Amino acid sequence: MEKYWNKNMECATRDEMRALQSFRLSQTVRRVYENVPYYRERMEKAGVTPDDIHSVDDLKKLPFTMKQDLRDTYPYGLFAVPMDQVVRLHASSGTTGKQIVVGYTQNDLDVWAECCARALTAAGADNKDFMHVSYGYGLFTGGLGLHGGAEKVGMTVIPVSTGNTNRQINIIKDFGSTFICCTPSYALYLAETMEEMGITKDDIKLKAGLFGAEPWTEEMRQEIESKLGLKAFDIYGLTEIIGPGVAFECSEQTGMHINEDNFIAETIDPDTGEVLPEGEQGEIVFTCITKEAFPLLRYRTRDIGILKREKCSCGRTLIKMMKPAGRSDDMLIIRGVNVFPSQVESVLLQLGNTAPYYQLIVDRVDNTDTLEIQVEISPEMFSDTVKSLEDQEKIIKNAIDSTLGISAKIRLVEPKTIQRTEGKAVRVIDKRK
Ligand code: ADP
Ligand code: ZN
Repeated sequence: MEKYWNKNMECATRDEMRALQSFRLSQTVRRVYENVPYYRERMEKAGVTPDDIHSVDDLKKLPFTMKQDLRDTYPYGLFAVPMDQVVRLHASSGTTGKQIVVGYTQNDLDVWAECCARALTAAGADNKDFMHVSYGYGLFTGGLGLHGGAEKVGMTVIPVSTGNTNRQINIIKDFGSTFICCTPSYALYLAETMEEMGITKDDIKLKAGLFGAEPWTEEMRQEIESKLGLKAFDIYGLTEIIGPGVAFECSEQTGMHINEDNFIAETIDPDTGEVLPEGEQGEIVFTCITKEAFPLLRYRTRDIGILKREKCSCGRTLIKMMKPAGRSDDMLIIRGVNVFPSQVESVLLQLGNTAPYYQLIVDRVDNTDTLEIQVEISPEMFSDTVKSLEDQEKIIKNAIDSTLGISAKIRLVEPKTIQRTEGKAVRVIDKRK
């Protein structure tokens, strides 16, 4: 039996949802126009006023907001309420350049907790569960975001944050954690450490995990599920919009339901800005329609994905986004060919035999781009003969070359060479920059 946190919203009819979205959108646009000079100027330039925005169909009249706008107005230029109403600040981890800061009113925190509560409930959690939070606490939204959701559900929250992996495993075992959340790369690191400590998945009680904050493949999901003995769910979000919980997976696991009553999603052609029909791959754009302190209008995420509105077996009517392949800024252009690190991950894990640790090293030699892929071999393989390692290298090279469409140099490295991470994995070292 599928469980919902808020059935009215999660299973609303299309007409109900559109009406709600239209109402909230027009209200948000008016509020932002009146309170944020930056938005008012942008709208005046585009020749739109709040009177032009009546429904979701009018969304396309509004100008886009880009990361650069957040930097230009740093720190508080896009806040839409006086600071005395702001009860929390978070900042992006700054993976791609200068950090930006976002704010929340008490109501915003409640909305956020609700979004995460829906995600947890969809993964099967209830108030009898123990929630081990190994996302970082602090300015990063991961830790406190899921913490708030788990408390709302009434779970017993264990706010471990990152670090000290051995201790984390003892806590999972001794405290009887049934749920966990962290980045998928940290989940693997936990599994690896557990093995070293001689603890098996039968010694722990984890049933499910919510993993996100970075791209990961279906193959990686299987790896995590088999090693930790749990069901792995995807969860998506970004600091600018609210944090984790913008979208979440249900039992069907064919895309993530977007919390549409709070965020309207569009896909656009990243080059022309043209809105694409649902089902076509493009850059995902979100508009916040319930946020008070930091409501972004048509924010360009740089995440490349697909929106799909199909009947879902879970009963939710919320639109789904397909797992983003990566950010447009993670996409490498190597000798003119587009490459996402996640394509490499998928090939490696399908072949088996290698540990799921890899890094792409891009350089430019004699005006030509070069790609080296360092792949960690599993400890068992490490003891194999040189001959078979050479064979392995060839097999990997062939598979990678044909998938990516360019030739890469493969370098097998010893177990534990590639740095482990407690947060987001560093998959690319681009020396061309
Ligand atoms: P930063 O921008 O500093 O990396 P954020 O935590 O705000 O910090 O990162 C949000 C980004 O992380 C998203 O825009 C997206 O690219 C990525 N992300 C988050 N969740 C997922 C997920 N489930 N799958 C793929 N990518 C994700
Ligand atoms: Zn569903």
